[in-house]
Amino acid sequence: MTQLNTPYPSTAYLTGFLRSRGVHAVQEDLALALVLRLLSSTGLESVRDQIEADSERTPSPIVRNFLEQFDHYLATVDRVIAFLQGRDSTLAHRINSRVFLPEGSRFDALEAHADSEEEEEGGDSLGWAFGALGVQDRAKHLATLYLSDLANVLREAIDPRFEFVRYAESLAASQQTFDPLADALAAPPNLVDRNLRELTLAAVDRHQPNVVLVSVPFPGCVYAAFRIAQTIKATHPDIITVLGGGFVNTELRELTEPRVFDFFDYITLDDGERPLLALLEYLRGERPQAQLVRTFVRTDDSGTDGPGSVQYIHHPEPDVPFAEVGTPTWDGLPIDQYLSTLDMLNPMHRLWSDGRWNKLTVAHGCYWKKCSFCDTTLDYIGRYEGVAASTLVDRIEAVVQETGQTGFHFVDEAAPPKALEGMAEELLRRNVQISWWGNIRFEKSFTPELCELLAESGCIAISGGLEVASDRLLKLMKKGVSVEQVARVTKAFSDAGILVHAYLMYGFPTQTVQDTVDALEYTRQLFEEDCIQSGFFHRFTCTVHSPVGLHPEEYGVELVPLPTVSFAKNDVDFIDPTNVDHDSLGVAINKALYNFMHGVCLDADIRSWFNEKVPRSRVARDFIAQAISEQQSS
Ligand code: SF4
Repeated sequence: MTQLNTPYPSTAYLTGFLRSRGVHAVQEDLALALVLRLLSSTGLESVRDQIEADSERTPSPIVRNFLEQFDHYLATVDRVIAFLQGRDSTLAHRINSRVFLPEGSRFDALEAHADSEEEEEGGDSLGWAFGALGVQDRAKHLATLYLSDLANVLREAIDPRFEFVRYAESLAASQQTFDPLADALAAPPNLVDRNLRELTLAAVDRHQPNVVLVSVPFPGCVYAAFRIAQTIKATHPDIITVLGGGFVNTELRELTEPRVFDFFDYITLDDGERPLLALLEYLRGERPQAQLVRTFVRTDDSGTDGPGSVQYIHHPEPDVPFAEVGTPTWDGLPIDQYLSTLDMLNPMHRLWSDGRWNKLTVAHGCYWKKCSFCDTTLDYIGRYEGVAASTLVDRIEAVVQETGQTGFHFVDEAAPPKALEGMAEELLRRNVQISWWGNIRFEKSFTPELCELLAESGCIAISGGLEVASDRLLKLMKKGVSVEQVARVTKAFSDAGILVHAYLMYGFPTQTVQDTVDALEYTRQLFEEDCIQSGFFHRFTCTVHSPVGLHPEEYGVELVPLPTVSFAKNDVDFIDPTNVDHDSLGVAINKALYNFMHGVCLDADIRSWFNEKVPRSRVARDFIAQAISEQQSS
């Protein structure tokens, strides 16, 4: 479960790579299939049947509303899905009527807003966001609220862990032992589990695989991945199952839990290409087990009755160079069935959920790799490798040819300015027309001229880290940018017509209340001056792979010792003598940011978001406007 609008790229990369090496490889997206099955008329009927069969539970108000309006949901769900898949655009007019769809609690926010708008100006409830036009967007937003209502029903009636993009995350994220996940997997399957089981068996039947590779990018994919493997092992014990992906690369590096191997035969770390080639050779009898690459296996420990023990095998071999990993392929994925949803009414924010983007990377790893909060010691960040612009544009052209779609999301850690410049020039030279967006560092080489060039080549949006908008903390975190520089660079992007999203952070070691107030004031000014159009405040988390986690004393904090870890290891608590209540500050700054993103309350006194006792930041005042005017005059 990652996102509904576009496939996660790892399977496309590995399928393309394996095929380029002569391996017969196919791919499936069971997450999308599961959502489409649950959100269908037959899916909703099974949800209703399940609720009615569960006579011991009193339905919550959300579930009661679903049952009362069930016929209405049944009559509309397949149509709404077709609309969000882009297959039935004229339905927008009926959706916008506000009588076509049944409405649950997720629509309440609209009513609250409508009341205040109508009191002030008179007008319809979504006019403030979409104006008189925007028929499709307005309908997409209403249809998204409808899906969210159905997700609430699934959560309250079937499985409290259900989320579209983060299913049962807490069972895996930084879970030191396998016990919670093992208990969940031993529980009788619920309706969601049973559907996933049927989909797994159907996929196995379709492809008759010898080996199944399961990619888990995030903790919210782990539970379902293990359910998939559990089904395969129970029904087709001869199929080899292999686990890999971002979650494994980050959190399972110190795995010692043998029970994991009841589900997966092999677990590979970091980029999958080389370990998988080695594993396939081993399975074909072409190399000994001792020559596996970055792979966990379970040893038998013959003579004992226990579950065996875990062995990590790494025969050092160079990774496949980024230039030779081949072109990803989406072949086999139902690219016309992904759902474009519109939750946030912010033009930048919607890119994450709206539209099907081909995902590519400009380079492997991060060329900067210094930020002290970042997992710089891990291979996917720490090993930087570029590729020639011509190779990159060859890949882009091949992907457009295959998918027929020209939108690209570059999912780099931070794409280097030089590489983006080379790619833009090559796109223009070949007259290749695409739209693209991606992640960067706000560094000074992004001049207004370069931003213009990137816009000309199809760049529509960029995101980058402003983190804690405080020069003292930016220096401490080795971000390599200053607030002033971020203001200039973001303004240059915005002036070129490129949307800008800022990743923001709070709760960094030694961050004071005043730092947080200042950071919010800087952020407000960046919105006011149209430097950024969107942002997100993440709470700082110390991870064991980051410089802060490795050298806490350099950041003025002390780590809380972790208990013995046999399963997932990532987050680590720390003691910060500054002792600030970041939780309550977080509520204030997120509320403020939400308003800023909708262009609301930009003129409100920054103190109004906080407790009155918090002093207003004087330092931050009018800083951004000054930085920009200096840029314009230079
Ligand atoms: S935070 Fe971004 S720019 Fe900094 S090291 Fe990590 S990937 Fe690179």
